[in-house]
Amino acid sequence: MPHVAVIGLGRMGHGMAGRYLDSGFTLAVWNRSKAKADDLVARGARRAGSPADAADGADAIVTMVADDEASRAVWLGKDGAAKTAKAGALAIECSTVSHQHAVDLARDLRARGLVYIDCPVTGLPDAAAAGKLTLLAGAEPADLERARPFLVPLSTMIRHFGRVGSGTVYKLINNLMGAVQIASLAEGLAIAEQAGLDMTLVADAMATGAVASPQVIRHSKRMAARDFSGASFTASLRHKDAAYAVARAEKLVSGVPVSRAALAAYETAKAYAPDDDEARMIEIVSRPKT
Ligand code: NAP
Repeated sequence: MPHVAVIGLGRMGHGMAGRYLDSGFTLAVWNRSKAKADDLVARGARRAGSPADAADGADAIVTMVADDEASRAVWLGKDGAAKTAKAGALAIECSTVSHQHAVDLARDLRARGLVYIDCPVTGLPDAAAAGKLTLLAGAEPADLERARPFLVPLSTMIRHFGRVGSGTVYKLINNLMGAVQIASLAEGLAIAEQAGLDMTLVADAMATGAVASPQVIRHSKRMAARDFSGASFTASLRHKDAAYAVARAEKLVSGVPVSRAALAAYETAKAYAPDDDEARMIEIVSRPKT
């Protein structure tokens, strides 16, 4: 059976690793906090002692960690995957990283004989566990074809944006626009509350009217009810994505004032509750004017 290594078993990576077991792959797993691998090991995965150990002998190495720093550590660190990965192995970076990092990492891993696939994802942790992610790929077409058998267990849709880095650029745009929408939704709800509107009516109108993007549909009723259960995407991750996106935008266009405002809103949200559901943005903006 093809041999896969999954490195990073957080909310997303854990479910993705499970999909390889469901699909009959031979799986090695590594996570910085070891306990997150326990149930996967009970289901037949090999517990690796380091990213290098996980990558040893793998045909494909899939990483799903927090950010640039984590990605650099698991690929290029002292016991990083690049140390042992065999020539020709697929390096599939699914984490949301900066564009600069994706390009630099691709260069460094190619220099070591690996085939790099830029592969950030959209979809929540339940979609990761169900193999229903959308993959936003950046790769040479032939490389993507080689990687396809390792991507199919994770996804219902693979969007190929072009060369390495292009999947990441699109992912950052996607999450930046999400930041704008969620910050704006929180402000809209806060204004409605202070104006004394019926919030059940408001939340329903927002979730079904012309402003009803999937983000608004997902968060409007939860924000209005202050229901932050089942946290899936945190203020800290969204802030990271918005910061990477604004950094990229500033090299490409003359100004992104709306995006900058959303980034500032997420700076506050990250300081307020970094590891909680990003919908808690409503608590920050709903304080009445004194
Ligand atoms: P998470 O639950 O916070 O998991 C983060 C993972 O990164 C954990 O495995 C963590 O290890 C690891 N990590 C962090 N810093 C590290 C370091 N310095 N060295 C090694 N490992 C490190 O996050 P997630 O929700 O799974 O998100 C993972 C990636 O997917 C992020 O890039 C995120 O932006 C992206 N994403 C998330 C969602 C979502 O809905 N959650 C959707 C699409 C994309 P520990 O367990 O030891 O902390």
